[in-house]
This record gives sequence, structure tokens and C-alpha cells, in this order.
Amino acid sequence: METRKHGNTHLRNFGHSYFFYIIPSFTLKTCTIVRKADGWYCCISMQDDNVPEPLPLNEIKTAVGVDVGLKEFLVTSKGETVPIKQHYRKTQSHLARQQRFLERKQKGSKRFAAQQNRIARIHQKIGRQRKDFHYNTAHKLVKNYDLIAVEDLNIRGLARTRLSKSVLDAAWGQFITILESVAVKCGVRVVKVSPHSTTQDCSGCGTKVPKTLSIRLHECHKCGLVMDRDENAALNILDRALSEVGLILPAGGGLVAGQPVKPEAWGFNGEALSFFDLEKLPL
Ligand SMILES: [Zn+2]
Repeated sequence: METRKHGNTHLRNFGHSYFFYIIPSFTLKTCTIVRKADGWYCCISMQDDNVPEPLPLNEIKTAVGVDVGLKEFLVTSKGETVPIKQHYRKTQSHLARQQRFLERKQKGSKRFAAQQNRIARIHQKIGRQRKDFHYNTAHKLVKNYDLIAVEDLNIRGLARTRLSKSVLDAAWGQFITILESVAVKCGVRVVKVSPHSTTQDCSGCGTKVPKTLSIRLHECHKCGLVMDRDENAALNILDRALSEVGLILPAGGGLVAGQPVKPEAWGFNGEALSFFDLEKLPL
């Protein structure tokens, strides 16, 4: 292993040798030593060349649009919802408490440093819980659909009102990255579309139905369509993605009840849980 000066630490001085197993078809790329709040980590990255080709368009059987909800974590064009995990909030109040304790400690003291570390570990835990939740949700989507349509985050800020939280945006950005990485390994397509007026347009007839954030229901005065606002947005996202890739699927917002072409192509060995059973996953 190459040694280089890293802050004040010479890796040469590490006292132990660790052995790890490299999957034969993978190429070892880099190895980074990282210090985190709860200790030192060795981060090994490997390259896998056995990534499947994305599913050909004519083989796509199931497609879904996904909208980031304000109340829910996400809403699909089928009306499925994934709630925001409640235990985030529990950890949040724990964090606030520990932060108050920090204020009582003398700056620069040992106890101050210890309390700082305690807080850093809580942040780390929240980050890990979120990441785990994102992976579980991404696997659920990839397992159930051949094509997943999402909003393109880069231009989202312009289209959304100021009230939508930046925290929500940040979490959404991480989720999209994870979703793409999971999808690539299964040959599932993720299509990013412009978020422009996805919430305002009617998914039934295309009429603009202006609504503020407090209005939860989409009610079209022209075609009479009534549905959840996020579900309506998800349908618009799906429609946009399908027309972008030039795909026509059977009616009903382009959805069919069939099985995805590549179910469980990679990695996820979970039992046949429905999309709603995230609670049953170990978290
Ligand atoms: Zn309409």
C-alpha cells in the first residue's frame, strides 16, 4: 500500500494488517483511509466491468413516475407512497438535547471535545439511517419497474416554490444518485425530466390547474379529474419521461400491471414484500 502524509498521520505507522476479500472479477482501484467520528475506516473501491446493458426500449414492460412529496418521502404514479421515516425525528430531538449539553461545557476542555464527538456520532447515525432508507427504497423501485422517471434536480430549484425545503432537496439528490447506481446494476432505466409545472398541469387533459402548496388535491375543472396532487405530478413526470424516450405503453398513464422484465436482477434477495412493506425491512 502506498503511504502518504495525511494530516499528521503517517499510514506507515498503522500497527495492524487487515485482510480483505476482493471479488475475482473486480479490479481494485483505490484504497482510502478515512477518519470518521467513530473511528478510522479503510474505504476500498473496486471496478466491476460486468454491468449489464440498459434494457432495450422495446422490452420495457413496466414504468413508474416518482414525485418527491411534501408530506411523504415520495409518491409514485400508481399512488403508492413511501413515508418519511419517523425515527429521524426521534434522533433529531436527541440531537437537539445533546447540542444543549454542549453549550454548558467549557470550550477547549476535554468534556467539550467529548460532547462534540457525541454530536458528530449522532449526525453520522442520521446520515447512515437516511442512506439505508434510500437504498431500501431504491431497491423496491428497481425491483418493481423497468423504467423509473424522476425530476431532474438541477433545474428543480427554479420550478419549485420557495417553501419547499432545501433539506428535502438535499435528501432527494442523494436518493436519485443511489437510485441511479442501483438501477445501472440491474439494467433498469432512470429517466430525468424537467420538473417544470409538473404539479400544476392536469395529468388527464394537460390543462393548467394552478394550486398553492396547501392544496393537497388536484381538481381539474376541465376534465373533472380528482386525485392527490403528488400522484398527479408523478403521472406527469412519467408521461414526460415516456415521450422523451419515445415509448408508448398501454393506457392509464402508460402503466401495465405486468411484472418487470428484470426482477431481482442483482443483489436484493428480500422476500416478496409489497412496495408498502418498507417497515418490515431491517433498518
Ligand atoms: Zn384535466
